[in-house]
Formats: sequence, C-alpha cells, structure tokens
Amino acid sequence: VKPGKFAYHAPTSKAEALELKARYDADGSLLAGGQSLMPMMNMRLATPEALIDLNRIPELAYVEDRDEDVVIGATTRHASAERDPVLAEACPLVREALGYVGHQVIRNRGTVGGSVAHADSAAELPATLAALDARITIESTSGERVVPATDFFQFHFMTVLEGAEIVTAISVPRLEPSCGWAFSEISRRHGDFAVAAVAALVRDGRTRLAFAGVAPKPLVVETSDPDPAADAVAAADEVGISDDIAGSRGYRRRLIGVLARRATELALSRASATGGRHD
Ligand SMILES: Cc1cc2nc3c(=O)[nH]c(=O)nc-3n(C[C@H](O)[C@H](O)[C@H](O)COP(=O)(O)OP(=O)(O)OC[C@H]3O[C@@H](n4cnc5c(N)ncnc54)[C@H](O)[C@@H]3O)c2cc1C
Repeated sequence: VKPGKFAYHAPTSKAEALELKARYDADGSLLAGGQSLMPMMNMRLATPEALIDLNRIPELAYVEDRDEDVVIGATTRHASAERDPVLAEACPLVREALGYVGHQVIRNRGTVGGSVAHADSAAELPATLAALDARITIESTSGERVVPATDFFQFHFMTVLEGAEIVTAISVPRLEPSCGWAFSEISRRHGDFAVAAVAALVRDGRTRLAFAGVAPKPLVVETSDPDPAADAVAAADEVGISDDIAGSRGYRRRLIGVLARRATELALSRASATGGRHD
C-alpha cells in the first residue's frame, strides 16, 4: 500500500495555502493531521495531484475566546482542543465529545478542521457542532463565507466545501450557565467510530439532540418531551436509519432511543448539579 505520485507543498501562511488551493482546486488535497487522508492515499482511494500541507501555518492553530464564541483554528489538534481550558469552561460538551475520537495517538495528530472537512457520518465532532449550532468559516482567494454546521454537512463524506476552499475556523457558541450538556456513544470498542452517538443540550425545558452514526449526516432533533426517545426514533425513521456492517437498522433504532434518554438524563443532572457552572 503506497500512495500514487503527488507534488508536495508546505505553505507557511494561510494566504499561500489559499493560493495553492486555488491553483490545484479539487486536484489538490489539504493535509491536516493525515489520519484519514494518508490511509485513503495509501489505498489509492484518494490520488491527489498535489498535497498542500497545512502543518506549517501557525495562524491556523489556536483556540480563542471571542465574546459569545470560542473560535477554534482549523489545524488545532484534537488533543489541544481537548485540553484547552477556555474551551472546557465555555463549552465542555466539545471536550467530552473529543474524548471519544479514536485513541490518544489519533487525537495527537488529528485536527478539528480535518474532522469537519472529512465529514464521516459516524464522527463525533460533526454531530456535536450541529447540536451546538456552531459555525464553520470557509475561505478561498475569492473571500470568506460562514456556514452553520447544520448546513455544512451534506452526506457521508460530503460537505458544502468547493474545490478551492479551505476550512479555516470553527466558532463554538459559549453555553449559557443554565444549559445542561452530555455526549454519549455506543461503539464496538473504545476508540472505534460510533455505531451511534448523541450530543445533547437541555435548556428552558427543551432538549436538542444531534446523532452521529445513524444517518448520512448529523441528525438533529428538538423536543420538549421530558422523555425524548420516541421523538428521536420518529425523526430517525423519517430520514431513514443507516444499515451497515457496524450495525443493523433495527439495532441502531434501539440505540437511538437508549442514547436519547441516557444523554438527556445526564444533561439534566448536570444542569441542576453545577448550579450554573461548567468547570
Ligand atoms: C485508527 C483510527 C481511528 C479513528 N477513530 C475516529 C473516531 O472514533 N472518531 C472520529 O471522528 N475520527 C476518528 N478517526 C479519524 C480522525 O479523527 C481524523 O483525524 C479525522 O477524521 C481527520 O482529521 P485529520 O486532521 O487527520 O485530517 P486529514 O486526514 O489530514 O484530512 C482529511 C480530509 O479532510 C481534508 N481537510 C483537512 N483539513 C482541511 C481543512 N482545513 N479544510 C478543508 N479540507 C480539509 C483533507 O484534504 C482530507 O480530504 C480515526 C482515525 C484512525 C486512523
């Protein structure tokens, strides 16, 4: 298993990376953590003409507190985001979800922007960002656009990204103190992709759930029912529940109800236990 031939570029600024992406368009692949791209290249599932390595661009790796949001630069490693005290205080749901992404060695290299752009339907971050109503900043040499996470993910491994565009940042809203939160997952072994997982937020008597692994893109469900299981299963039935080697439709249908209930109960207990503090 060896990749095909490719040109290699290591830009040192965002502007340079955007120029290269414009030059190669869809024929140039961005290399972030390489945890998904390199295996795909080694198996010749991806044969880009050029690799544009984002790892030498310090301006893309940061976590910053900006008013209502915490902004995460695209090449921030999962492990850095997981340990970041600002993110942990403002939005502990992200930290909890990151703990389920692969294993520590994967998180040491994998990036937040890479997970978002890769858009695996069983990945934890896309569902978490959809639950949070996070926003994805996309740039090209023609300018910038900001897309809600709920619109960004289109299908398995498909997003609204165009060939010349780069994800540059992810804006995560600060959770208000009264908001309860939880992430819950079922996978075959710890560190595997989710068979089914859910990010839950409870506020003002309403529950917002976003599932990973059950549909081609994050499935968002909003309900005021104190037991959200039935509404979650009904919403999943409406879009069609995934049926694959990781789990049958019937098994996943059962998991959706179990996870909806489990995460909502935990979120509610945290909302009352913390008395409004997230740390
Ligand atoms: C053994 C193993 C287990 C794993 N388990 C999990 C898991 O449980 N959950 C999970 O979510 N993930 C898991 N992963 C995947 C891991 O999280 C990857 O890091 C992630 O999917 C991709 O991030 P990356 O930074 O490595 O991106 P890369 O592999 O470098 O890139 C992935 C794709 O995104 C594109 N891309 C990267 N950055 C950008 C950007 N800024 N803008 C536009 N396009 C970009 C690349 O061109 C490529 O097409 C696992 C990986 C391995 C090897």
